[in-house]
Amino acid sequence: MSAAENYREIVEQLNVHAKKQEQTTPQLIVVSKTFDIDTIKPVIAAGARVFGENRVQEAQGKWPELRTYAADIELHLIGPLQSNKTADAVALFDCIQTVDREKIAKSIAKEINAQGKNLKLFVQVNTGSEPQKAGILPQAAHEFVEWCQNDVNLTIEGLMCIPPFDENPGPHFALLRKLARDLDLTKLSMGMSADYLTATEFGATHVRVGSSIFGKR
Ligand SMILES: *Cc1c(COP(=O)(O)O)cnc(C)c1O
Repeated sequence: MSAAENYREIVEQLNVHAKKQEQTTPQLIVVSKTFDIDTIKPVIAAGARVFGENRVQEAQGKWPELRTYAADIELHLIGPLQSNKTADAVALFDCIQTVDREKIAKSIAKEINAQGKNLKLFVQVNTGSEPQKAGILPQAAHEFVEWCQNDVNLTIEGLMCIPPFDENPGPHFALLRKLARDLDLTKLSMGMSADYLTATEFGATHVRVGSSIFGKR
């Protein structure tokens, strides 16, 4: 099947599954990292408008052109952000899902002010406390989100997580949901190709799907 067909099928599957679970259908974020303009274009033509990329530089090379194919593209940064890339990221993306430390929060706040841009922000939580993984540790998440809101004046929409590769994701999704509820945050970005239906059951508002749409990277 083509990427466009896969996209349509997953949208339908999310609708059916969410209805069955009495959940609101999550927003499908089409993760287009590593795929080129000609591969992504048909998925835009099929109706996809919300996309995820994990590298600022790669996204800069593709999305100025891709945005010309639809007026209402929403682009999410889902990979770690280095502070020397913050200005470019704030300029290009509509949402940064990987706010996870004070330094990056401060530099995002500075750029939002400098560029006068309204940006959606999620805090990434390292729900598995994996040493190699980005994200704030779960026990520090509450304080960090409040610090972002009160001390740097950032509007945090929700939380994002990437559960450990080799674990049952359910407990991680449940933990993220609990942290968000305690903070009165309504958005949850969780679930990838292997587990987007499970994430839907745990109340995901955004699922990030790449390889089930485009194939192997
Ligand atoms: C690559 C990536 C995805 C998509 O992963 P698939 O398994 O290909 O669906 C989702 N979220 C993040 C943060 C990613 O880097």
